[in-house]
Amino acid sequence: MNIQKRINKSARKYADKKVVVYGAGVYSQDLFENNDFSKLNIVAVADKKFENPKKREFFGYNCITPEDLKTFDCDVILIANLDVSLIQDFLEDELLCNTKNEDTEISSLAEEQTLRALQKEVNSLRASLLRTTPQASLKQIEIHLVEHCNLNCFGCNQYVPLAEKGFLDIEVFKKQIERLAELTQTRLERMLLLGGEPLLHPELLEFLSVSRELFPNTDITILTNGVLLNVQKESFWKQCAAKRITVSITKYPIKTNYAKIEEKAENYGVQMYYYGNTDKIKKTSYYWPLDLNRCQNARENFIKCPNANKCVTLKNGKLFTCSAPPHVHHFNKYFNQNVEVTEHDCIDIYEAQNINEILQFLAKPIPFCKYCDVKRRKEGLEWSTSKRVIEEWV
Ligand code: SF4
Repeated sequence: MNIQKRINKSARKYADKKVVVYGAGVYSQDLFENNDFSKLNIVAVADKKFENPKKREFFGYNCITPEDLKTFDCDVILIANLDVSLIQDFLEDELLCNTKNEDTEISSLAEEQTLRALQKEVNSLRASLLRTTPQASLKQIEIHLVEHCNLNCFGCNQYVPLAEKGFLDIEVFKKQIERLAELTQTRLERMLLLGGEPLLHPELLEFLSVSRELFPNTDITILTNGVLLNVQKESFWKQCAAKRITVSITKYPIKTNYAKIEEKAENYGVQMYYYGNTDKIKKTSYYWPLDLNRCQNARENFIKCPNANKCVTLKNGKLFTCSAPPHVHHFNKYFNQNVEVTEHDCIDIYEAQNINEILQFLAKPIPFCKYCDVKRRKEGLEWSTSKRVIEEWV
């Protein structure tokens, strides 16, 4: 139902009622500008912004503050805001209880469905803006300690099932994060140690020591599929506790004794959580195809890509805005392809003058974005393992 029809319907329903419209923000202004409200008996528009400075009129209607609603003479409050449930709770549970208007009917000017669609659009716009806005400081970086994995998910967007066995050298790691500590003055919110499967690294404990030493206040998290957690030695749990390392487990639909893992984490005092903050098994597979002809619109892709300026990856002394280009060499080698990664796809941490130069770089599309066929991406597919056929990636 379009919004004018909804307004007319409300006008018929509340024909002899005194109506207050709640909300005078951008959404409400748009409603008043583009619709005819004359059939509704609006006695006032209420909004917090009318508190200061006092305003008398909003599209010709009397202005009141939320506080005024406690005593105001009205029968119905129609919410003109995208956060309907939030405002409804505020009115019912905080503002109007035990007041004259406690039993006033509260409804929304738009249908739930319309609001949900609008909210989705707003969230997506907000996310696009975040991607293209340089961060104030480096929030999160991902470092692959291991190239290969013991699960090999279908369509892995880091091409891990195609990788040969490979371990990050501790000296290379140390050198890189020393430079990173210098650039960021150790101001980094989160360092993710992942792979492939990071628990496969024989020197994992050493990586934990080095990262904690150089980043004393950073949230350092191991991102694991959990398969090997139950066979970790005591030294692993003790090191995680001593170095304040968090263990984040992605739950897969495979047989693993999660209760035993939880118990161990608790016994050793290790912070542990499941990816997505839920203990429900939810790992799905996805299909993120590459356009081998490189015909995609880089800017459009970057704006829409959830990994852009988020899955910032450090590899071989270079920072990438996402995790695809630093790992595509596995795809190239396995399928004998030539997906190109150039110096314009990353920024060298030893050459960058300062962190701002890096933050600016990370917020811009890279040539590699032309390879990503973002429109054809599919998510939420039933989880399965890779058959290592090119169709999983193109
Ligand atoms: S290359 Fe661009 S579109 Fe592809 S994953 Fe990275 S940021 Fe996203």
